[in-house]
Amino acid sequence: MALIVHKYGGTSMGSVERIRNVAQRVAKWHRAGHRLVVVPSAMSGETNRLIGLARELQAQPDPRELDMIASTGEQVSVGLLAIALKAIGVDAVSYAGWQVPIRTDDAFTKARIASIDDARVRADLEAGRVVIVTGFQGVDPAGHITTLGRGGSDTSAVAVAAAMGAEECLIYTDVDGVYTTDPRIVPEARRLARITFEEMLEMASLGSKVLQIRSVEFAGKYKVRTRVLSSLTPPDIPLAEEMASGTLITFEEAQTMEQAVISGIAFARDEAKITVMNVPDRPGVAYQILGPVAEANVDVDMIIQNQSVNGMTDFSFTVSRAEYQKALDVLGGSVRPKLGAGDIVGDPKIAKVSVVGIGMRSHVGIASRMFRTLSEEGINIQMISTSEIKISVVIEDKYLELAVRALHKAFDLEQPVG
Ligand code: ASP
Ligand code: MG
Repeated sequence: MALIVHKYGGTSMGSVERIRNVAQRVAKWHRAGHRLVVVPSAMSGETNRLIGLARELQAQPDPRELDMIASTGEQVSVGLLAIALKAIGVDAVSYAGWQVPIRTDDAFTKARIASIDDARVRADLEAGRVVIVTGFQGVDPAGHITTLGRGGSDTSAVAVAAAMGAEECLIYTDVDGVYTTDPRIVPEARRLARITFEEMLEMASLGSKVLQIRSVEFAGKYKVRTRVLSSLTPPDIPLAEEMASGTLITFEEAQTMEQAVISGIAFARDEAKITVMNVPDRPGVAYQILGPVAEANVDVDMIIQNQSVNGMTDFSFTVSRAEYQKALDVLGGSVRPKLGAGDIVGDPKIAKVSVVGIGMRSHVGIASRMFRTLSEEGINIQMISTSEIKISVVIEDKYLELAVRALHKAFDLEQPVG
């Protein structure tokens, strides 16, 4: 009689037929005696369609109104799923975020969850109902509907699981788990049976878009046992089989002798690099460059400042390609003359590749193996950054796939572990 949260993504909810499948899967869990809270996304393509309608009327619509519109996709989903469950004899009830309520701050289109009141949901569970709660949305202190940012239903599900102390949060999606890298680039990529939460955070933030990164942060903070698994298996596969499938995000670092040193290769395309040349090397310079960039809401990733020569240095950093021009405009405007810096040069054709693994903590030589592999492929490394469990390099974007394949092989990731 465990309390379990299921989350279904847009593809899983993509048609009436698929919603029927979801209902059958949920019914199977319910009939096995579990108490279930289900958090679905909007039907695939729906959120884009809704936001598109708003943008036809105005290029930058009022964020409050955008949330009013975008949140309706999930409202349709919960209602349809409740009906699908009732149609097969399972008692179910659907709630919008404000009805639970899931309370958030008032940062429209990117709100953060503040608290979840679980009394109403619990009462329904006690009465034997399956409870279906909208993903992606909440309500701010003034009663306005908010949304949590694209992909936010993952975060809703993990947050509900945390608030209710659920035994496990199952994230059903159109892939069957987290892979050592993107199988479209490396067909030999393997599904990982387990990944630690810290590794998942690196994999998610480095571009493996399986889970919204905030949901992983939430899972880590509240120790929610979270599993990513396929919604495309037959809905009636045995429960035990289903519970052992996918990828489990763990907290214990059950390091065994057989544990691979590296868990995966993550990458991000569409990055860009900016270098401010001949910057006087004095206190406050990094702030003078990056302060205005941050104020323009541009996220900076890797940062490098070189040893100075004659009091002058070069300062480089990376941003996402979509924000490249904005960052250049900011620096070219008032920043450069104020700094007394030289040219600003940029390269919008770079990519980032990272090897990730907690095994790095106890193994030396990972970086040199990575660098040797890239050099054997003739790939020039432009920037390097490291943390305890990852090493990232910036390379020319046309070498990205080659680098990912070579590294996947160099770290034996195609071999089953243990
Ligand atoms: N429907 C929202 C989106 O498309 C939230 C989600 O699917 O997680 O971003
Ligand atoms: Mg998603």
